[in-house]
Amino acid sequence: MRSAEPHVQPSPTSITAASPPRTHDSALRGRAARVMPGGMFGHMNAALLPPAYPQFFKAGDGCRLTDVDGNAYIDFMCSWGPIIAGYRHPVVDAAFAKRVSEGDLMNGPGEAMVELAERLVDRVGHADWVLFQKSGTDATTLCVTVARAATGRRKVLAAQGAYHGAVPWCTPYPAGVTAEDRANLVHYRFNDIASVEAALAANEGDVAAVIVSAFRHDFAKDQELTDPAFARRVRELCSQKGAVLILDDVRAGLRLHRGGSWETIGVRPDLSAWSKAIANGYPLAFVAGVDALRDAARSVYSTGSFWCGSASMAAAVATLDVLDAGDAVNHMARMGDRLRAGLARQAANYGIGLRQTGPSQMPQVLFDDDGDFAKGFRFTSEALHRGVYLHPKHNMFLSLAHGEADIDQALEATEEAMRVVGKG
Ligand code: PMP
Repeated sequence: MRSAEPHVQPSPTSITAASPPRTHDSALRGRAARVMPGGMFGHMNAALLPPAYPQFFKAGDGCRLTDVDGNAYIDFMCSWGPIIAGYRHPVVDAAFAKRVSEGDLMNGPGEAMVELAERLVDRVGHADWVLFQKSGTDATTLCVTVARAATGRRKVLAAQGAYHGAVPWCTPYPAGVTAEDRANLVHYRFNDIASVEAALAANEGDVAAVIVSAFRHDFAKDQELTDPAFARRVRELCSQKGAVLILDDVRAGLRLHRGGSWETIGVRPDLSAWSKAIANGYPLAFVAGVDALRDAARSVYSTGSFWCGSASMAAAVATLDVLDAGDAVNHMARMGDRLRAGLARQAANYGIGLRQTGPSQMPQVLFDDDGDFAKGFRFTSEALHRGVYLHPKHNMFLSLAHGEADIDQALEATEEAMRVVGKG
């Protein structure tokens, strides 16, 4: 059974775990509420999480986080994806610090930009060129703009419920968005080729691009792997109709495959958008494209004051080395499988229906018959109380820093948390 509305929250009384001390966190929340609208913004707003969760953190190390009150956690969010080698990875941080010590932002980029571009063109399956930005939203938006410049068309087909960023053309939230902002956005259903065909037919001759997620990782929903037949047919249709196929690899990039998530199914996009994990937490994004779109990419005025900072680029080069040396994709898959097997065993022991979906490197864990997420909130609150930071609704992330001992320690906590959920 699928969960109901993504933003439904259970009542606080249905969540049992007692909170660890949070005096500093509360004080910071109070101060933030006076000087920032709502005290916090966006996806990291702790108001969306069970009440026991901290808002503020002071340190990260490997796969562990410490909040501002000194409570330590084994972390399964990895800063919502960017941390892929582990917090404060010494090799990545040294590369970053070295660039900072000589100059990060200057009147133009440093050598690191060319080196990173060469590395990415070698690595990413479909890439003949890359352009750098700072956020995933920058990258998806630039993909759409390049596609329009290349085709002279207006419409963009996106999957219903997919997240591609936080600007008017694609934000999932209506505030401040006009009908005109969305006039050229057409929805299809992920893995449903008939819905793509219908959207193409209804907008014949005016479709600039079809944007696809690496797999379906919509908030608060079961995840769905990409049906290879769907991917192949979307590719074929884009080629036939002269539309640009954009892969949004912002969230999954480097976790499913070292050279692009759809390399796992042998389908290549025309453009791909990347960010999150590429510099192990330092701000960076890129768009990769095929030769046929090189002129269109050159024609678009793409720039930003911070886009050419060298330190993040040096950190990205180091991140790629660290991931390759650690066989990161396989490592994360193994650790994710270990976590998943343990949770499945525990749920079965307590007679609890659990749905674990998506790739093991990015696990989504939802409870059956949990329309208001009360079980999920209780489970994650209890785990948090025992030193494990999980998310009750969003997919989680493994990193190279998660080892077997960390997974096993986390499973000791979830055993207790599952027992509490089992008691009802
Ligand atoms: N696309 C996907 C698939 C994402 O997961 C995200 C971020 N959650 C974005 C785009 C936007 O990235 P950013 O938050 O860096 O702008």
